[in-house]
Amino acid sequence: MTTVGPTIGVHDLLRRRGSRLVVNATVDLGGAETSTASIPDGTEVSAEVTLDSINDGIVLTSELDVPWSGECRRCLEMTSGIVRVDVHEVYRVDPVDEMLPIVNEEIDVGGALRDAAVLSLPIAPLCSDDCRGPLPSEFPVMTATDESAEVVDPRWAALSELRFDSADDSD
Ligand SMILES: [Zn+2]
Repeated sequence: MTTVGPTIGVHDLLRRRGSRLVVNATVDLGGAETSTASIPDGTEVSAEVTLDSINDGIVLTSELDVPWSGECRRCLEMTSGIVRVDVHEVYRVDPVDEMLPIVNEEIDVGGALRDAAVLSLPIAPLCSDDCRGPLPSEFPVMTATDESAEVVDPRWAALSELRFDSADDSD
């Protein structure tokens, strides 16, 4: 399999609709970050990239494993992991909506993979599913279901039953 850089020439693909090119792309993801997690400096990821020629464009599909590090949302210790990302992009000479451009018969595969990697970074990292936080006795473990469930104090539950439908529903 051919190994390519961050951009790939698609001259032949554009002229042979229905044709497919499978290459191995190596992308530098180091330093990409969100407010909750980052990809360590120097991270290079290799991924198999499939390019399919369609009407007026190229469809890219790939799958990459992205290493990340970030602060556990419960105990605030640094933690890390690997997230698998499915990438699916459409390139066109005249891109619309979410499509990416084909410029001089080349496509920026590295940019697409990097963007997909950043979007996949965890928004609420956990060092382990049963992390109990820094002070387990004072802050009992909260699971995702606990956090999304509405906690109703029984005293207020009784009051809310007295409400009429037309009552203020700002709560
Ligand atoms: Zn933790």
